[in-house]
Amino acid sequence: MKKLASAVLLVSLSGFAGSCRDEAARAEPEKLGRLTEVSEKALTAIRMEEMNWPDIKRAIESGFTTVVVAVGSTEQHGPHLPTMTDARIGEEIAERVARKLGRALLARTIDVGLSEHHMAFAGTISFKAETLLLIIRDYAASLARHGFTRIVFIPMHGGNFPTVRQAIEEARKAHPDIDITGFTDVAGLLDLLARNSADYGVSVEVAGAHAGESETSMMMALEGRLVAVDRFAPGYIGPFGEAGLKLMMEKGMSAISANGILGDPRTASAKRGEAYLERLADFVVSMIGPKTGS
Ligand SMILES: [Zn+2]
Repeated sequence: MKKLASAVLLVSLSGFAGSCRDEAARAEPEKLGRLTEVSEKALTAIRMEEMNWPDIKRAIESGFTTVVVAVGSTEQHGPHLPTMTDARIGEEIAERVARKLGRALLARTIDVGLSEHHMAFAGTISFKAETLLLIIRDYAASLARHGFTRIVFIPMHGGNFPTVRQAIEEARKAHPDIDITGFTDVAGLLDLLARNSADYGVSVEVAGAHAGESETSMMMALEGRLVAVDRFAPGYIGPFGEAGLKLMMEKGMSAISANGILGDPRTASAKRGEAYLERLADFVVSMIGPKTGS
């Protein structure tokens, strides 16, 4: 009985706070800027999939006019990482970027990408480029209709970058009044990941471009329960330049690495992974430009 009473009190208190905010917004529209500052601190949930439409609408009207979308993949990441790896890391980076930009919400992650070169491994799901183009086109059109003025796409899977870049160009033409942008520098991404690991004494070959020390560390920080530590094994460890990339795109990952890994996860650590994630988010913010709309 006591429990019930306090639950009722909680509900009515939160309702009261909500109506107070509504009245404040109506009564003092000139103070909306100040009100938004308060909201920015108070708004802990920025994932639209976990929010309801009135809260999303109110956030947009209060100046949360930037929206960030990760474009990941569902593909094999060696015998030790889950197929959601790129989508999960992408979503984490997108959320950190949204918080760093300020006044930004996070849209549902596009969690399948272009992964034809991983199809030799079970569980991989791959879109054709034209499918992803259409999906991004529809995302931009939907988000534009709700009043967002800046849409930021963040691909976190190498195979998606050219298509995301093309989709952004097309979306800009369709919505010339909206700032549609994205992080589309795949060479910059690989370079940053290598530099991150180098700062901890890990070579670029071990850090790896796929399921090596770098991605494994980040997944240990995010989803340790899904990382099969007892299966850590080296994959292809060697130079992976343009020739390697060409071979992988033409013949598939299995032509280069039998276990699907480029790099070596054996020295991965969750602590380092957290540092990599934070640096990666800072890097993406520096590449796409500072806070807008404030
Ligand atoms: Zn990956």
